[in-house]
Amino acid sequence: MSSHKIVPIPAFTDNYIWAIIQNNCCAVVDPGEAEPVLAFCRSNNLELTHILITHHHWDHTNGIKELLDTYPGIPVYGPDYGNIAHLTIRLREDDEVVIPELGLNLKVLEVPGHTLDHIAYVGDSGVFCGDTLFSGGCGRLFEGTPVQMNKSLGKLMQLPADLSVYCTHEYTLANLAFAKAVEPANQELAVYQQWAIEQRENGNPTLPTTIGKEKAINPFLRTNEYSVKTNMEQRLGRQLSSSDEIFAVIRGWKDNF
Ligand code: ZN
Ligand code: FE
Repeated sequence: MSSHKIVPIPAFTDNYIWAIIQNNCCAVVDPGEAEPVLAFCRSNNLELTHILITHHHWDHTNGIKELLDTYPGIPVYGPDYGNIAHLTIRLREDDEVVIPELGLNLKVLEVPGHTLDHIAYVGDSGVFCGDTLFSGGCGRLFEGTPVQMNKSLGKLMQLPADLSVYCTHEYTLANLAFAKAVEPANQELAVYQQWAIEQRENGNPTLPTTIGKEKAINPFLRTNEYSVKTNMEQRLGRQLSSSDEIFAVIRGWKDNF
């Protein structure tokens, strides 16, 4: 069993740069800016040893260069597809990232939808899913299609229910307000929303979440639920026949919510 800790480093207004720490070594996932990471390493006496990237967006990659200025030559993992600057190791579906000094053994899943290059890193202690899955929501479809994104989320749903999910944005409250519009009668959603509101009032993150929790409350993972299907059909005034179709309708509604 690994003994690393995983902690969020807040960045910008609502990003989390996840730090994976063991002994005095530290890896970060999606450093959109360098300064919070450098300050975190300084104040905790850590040495940055690895950088992991999920997709090309600037709020996940802009800090890479400055981190390399301070820690020259450390490996930078990221998607093979696409063209992210400063990557040293390019990853595809089923590739493994093994980092003994951090007790990390991660498997790569390709999860296109938010962007076409998007990957997720899956290990025993959790999945780093970038902007693919959020608590109560999912990433906007900037590059991929609803069918691609629904399939990518389906891959994440295959993971163990108790697996922690490390998303890159604190979007939970806004997502849950929308989720309630999709599923007003979901009791677990109502209880979770209350918990999330309290977390934020106390200045705490709502993340990580878990795969099981998201399956119970996240409308984008619940397109096969009878209640979701019928609620969306009523809203549209027509029948919806497939999970992909229902997903597309929910995603379109959320874009304008
Ligand atoms: Zn993004
Ligand atoms: Fe982002």
